[in-house]
Amino acid sequence: MVKEDASLKPVVTAKTSSVEETHNLAALLVEIFRPGDVVVLSGDLGAGKTSFTQGLGLAMGIETPITSPTFTLANRYEGKLVLNHLDVYRLDRFQEVEELGLSELIDSNSLTVIEWGDVISSVLSEGFLEIRLRLGENQDSRVLDFILIGQRWVEREIELVSLVSSFSIENGE
Ligand code: ADP
Ligand code: MG
Repeated sequence: MVKEDASLKPVVTAKTSSVEETHNLAALLVEIFRPGDVVVLSGDLGAGKTSFTQGLGLAMGIETPITSPTFTLANRYEGKLVLNHLDVYRLDRFQEVEELGLSELIDSNSLTVIEWGDVISSVLSEGFLEIRLRLGENQDSRVLDFILIGQRWVEREIELVSLVSSFSIENGE
C-alpha cells in the first residue's frame, strides 16, 4: 500500500491566472494519462478542483458538462478514456470509502479523478498524481503543486515537468 509521505515535495509548481488557463493546463495533462490512472485533487473549497476536472473533460472529448458529483459521489463520463469523477468531501468514515467500490471504479480503461482525495489517499495502492490547488495572489490566480506518489508516477516525472513547463513557476519566478 502506498502511503502519502508528508516529506514528499512537489516535482513542479504551476500558476494559472484564470479559469481558462486552469482548463488549458488540465488539457495538457491528458497526454500523460494512462488507463487506470488516479488523480487526487486537494485544496480548499473554491480552489479550482472541479474547474480543473472540467478542463480535463473538455480535452478528453466529453460532451456532457462536468459538475460536482454532489449527491452521487461518483460520476462516470465517456471520453477518449472513461472519466470517473469523485468528490469525497463528505466521506469521513473508512466504511464509506469502502462502499465507494474504488477498486471496481479504477479499472484498466478509465481515468479516476478524486476531489478531496487526500482524505482517502492511503487506500490508493497503485500510486497516484496529487495536484494541490490553492489561491494565488489575486482572485483569479491559482497555484498548483504536482506530487508524484508511487513508481507508476515517479517514472513520469520528466514528462510531467516538461508538459506543464509553460505554466511552471519554478526557478524563482
Ligand atoms: P473546488 O472544486 O476546488 O471547490 P471550483 O472549481 O468549484 O473549486 O471553483 C473554483 C472557482 O474559482 C470557480 O468559480 C472559478 O471560476 C474560479 N476561478 C477563478 N480563477 C480560477 C483559476 N485560475 N483556476 C480555477 N478556478 C478559478
Ligand atoms: Mg469541487
